[in-house]
Formats: sequence, structure tokens, C-alpha cells
Amino acid sequence: MTSDIPDWIKEWIQKDRLVRNKFKISHKYMSHPKRIQYMKGEKDDQNEWISFKYMIISTKYGKYWVRYNQGLYECSCPFFKHRGICSHIFSVCQVTGVWPDKELLFSSKN
Ligand SMILES: [Zn+2]
Repeated sequence: MTSDIPDWIKEWIQKDRLVRNKFKISHKYMSHPKRIQYMKGEKDDQNEWISFKYMIISTKYGKYWVRYNQGLYECSCPFFKHRGICSHIFSVCQVTGVWPDKELLFSSKN
């Protein structure tokens, strides 16, 4: 499973303590699969995801929405606005094997 993580994500986790912390938290969600609920999605002709939506249930904070659309992820939690990533997105990435597009992610933060 760990080998599926893109190198740039691994580097980001290594150099940013807050991001690393969110990555660790994502494993808590993953050990409780009912907290990561698929809602809907759309695939292209090659069976690749175009878009999807998940609901993440946090026992502390309630429900958050994670949306993916053509390389970009979005989450309704407050940390997402900081870094463009969060524990909820990390959970969905690991479940789906779909990671954000690096260029899109960093350009969308400007
Ligand atoms: Zn989030």
C-alpha cells in the first residue's frame, strides 16, 4: 500500500510536520472503513475516475465532504484551506489509489 504513494507526496509528508500529522490521522479513518463512505462518481471510457465524492465521518467533528474532479481534490474541513490537503483527502487517496495532480494542486493555491 505504501508503495502506491507518489514520491512528491512522500517528500511533502517528510518536510511538513502538519501534513505528516494529517497523513498519520488518515490511517485512523482507514482502520474504520465505515467512516469513509463512497457517495457517487463518474468514470471515463478507460475506466479512470473523472470525478467522485466521498463522505468522511469524524467522531470528533462530524461529517466532511471530499470531492475529486479531474486531478483536483477538495474537502469541506478547515485544514484543507491551509495546505490544499488534509487527513480526509489522504484517506480517500489511499482507498481509491487516485492522487491529486501536483501541478494543479499547487497552482490552485495561488
Ligand atoms: Zn478534510
